[in-house]
Amino acid sequence: MKSLLALGGALFAASVALAATPRPPNIVFIFSDDHAYQAISAYGEGRKLLPTPNIDRIAKAGVRFDRCMVTNSICGPSRATILTGKYSHLNGFPNNSNSTFDGSQVTFPKLLQKAGYQTAIVGKWHLVSEPTGFDFWQILPGQGVYYNPPMLKMGERIQVQGYTTDIITDVSLDWLKIRDKSKPFLLMAQHKAPHREWSPALRHLNFDRDRVYPEPPTLFDDYSGRGLAEHDQDMTIAKTMNDRDVKLTPPPGMNPDQRKQWDAYYEPRNAKYRAANLQGKDLVRWRYQRYMHDYLATIKAVDESVGRILDYLEKEGLIDNTIIVYAADQGFYLGEHGWFDKRWIFEESLRTPLLVSWKGVTKPGTVNRDLVSNLDFGETFLDAAGVQIPAEMQGRSVVPILRGRTPADWRKAFYYQYYEWPTPHRVRPHYGVVTDRYKLVRFYGTGEDYWELFDREKDPLELKSVYNDAAYASTKAQLEKDLVRLRQELKVPEQIPPEWFGRRGAGDGTGAPKKQKQKQDKKAE
Ligand code: CA
Repeated sequence: MKSLLALGGALFAASVALAATPRPPNIVFIFSDDHAYQAISAYGEGRKLLPTPNIDRIAKAGVRFDRCMVTNSICGPSRATILTGKYSHLNGFPNNSNSTFDGSQVTFPKLLQKAGYQTAIVGKWHLVSEPTGFDFWQILPGQGVYYNPPMLKMGERIQVQGYTTDIITDVSLDWLKIRDKSKPFLLMAQHKAPHREWSPALRHLNFDRDRVYPEPPTLFDDYSGRGLAEHDQDMTIAKTMNDRDVKLTPPPGMNPDQRKQWDAYYEPRNAKYRAANLQGKDLVRWRYQRYMHDYLATIKAVDESVGRILDYLEKEGLIDNTIIVYAADQGFYLGEHGWFDKRWIFEESLRTPLLVSWKGVTKPGTVNRDLVSNLDFGETFLDAAGVQIPAEMQGRSVVPILRGRTPADWRKAFYYQYYEWPTPHRVRPHYGVVTDRYKLVRFYGTGEDYWELFDREKDPLELKSVYNDAAYASTKAQLEKDLVRLRQELKVPEQIPPEWFGRRGAGDGTGAPKKQKQKQDKKAE
């Protein structure tokens, strides 16, 4: 009797403890590829390119981060940084052309899995080796394609019919439905869209009814006021954008019925274009308009996907204990400086959208300007789950910021480093320090090193380096100090191994053998 009473007491104590410990939050991480914040209506900036009502639901319920910066602005490196909470020089994935992710590393999904979470990743992975730390994974091999994609499902190659954004959404929702409901979960739904070549869903081909999009003020930038790197890059709409990018050549993988609908939209417009024989600025303007149509149309499907996932979470009553994140792997140029692509420390490329809602924690409609990063994502999820953040991770949890209380010692300076050179896109390797107002940048690794300094308060479009302006001497000295300190704290090596720049001479526009070039193209960007 006594022992039964004791047992009852112990059970009672255990159930009180359970009730007192809230269930760890679920995490839904919706992640797209190359989605510029300029193309999210919640960011409300500039050209009002596209309404994104579903993505905006997350901003309305939570926090819009206005200065979320990536450590290295390209696809694979961003993903490796998110998983490991480490910079490229420590996670071993500095570029897209010859890096392979070491899946034996400590990653936040593995730690969540160990802590009792069910984990899944669906969609674009782009880290070459197979995913580790996931109970379920179904990924696109390499870059993936927009139509009827081959996929790898738990290591098995399968062929899926349909539009890739919709497929990623379907597979994500299917997993949510069959998951072990006794456990908290992490779902990473990772879109290919709106990555190059920006191929829309057939239902969205005429979504904008041939709208004429406003041009950015720097569409015809001449790069004066800046150095060799800006002049010498290969990522302009004028010179680099190709026939496949502008849909004069259709994308791969469509079936005959899909192709028929595709041609019905593009062919009459392409015929008109061919007849016009556009040159110079007129040609750039035409390409820009085609680019905006295609790029934004792919985002329409992403926005619908976000809507479907949010609707499911609401319907299932999961919204009360789920952190919902929308982010991309980096920013992107939508014609600013005449460019597409990313890579630079400059704002459009450096900054990635980050919207986070967490019911009962985030104050609806908050806008935050703290210097946060994709380096912080993993740490944030671990913190929210009550899991200890390993000391080796280099970022910091933004949970206090989500609660509306930025720690007094939050970072005031952020370190950035880009490696991949010379292909694709000929953006010279550079590193630098970013503050709320300034950017100090050093181009390195090509034998033509030089510095630039930008004052974003006076020059928000980053058009003129003031590195040699005596008025900035003390600012420069402070930034140089920050840079030295950050490089030391973050353990950045002085000498960069040559292979970190990528597979030299094997990419676009270098005359590399065709077979090798195609292989490279698959992995590029
Ligand atoms: Ca990307």
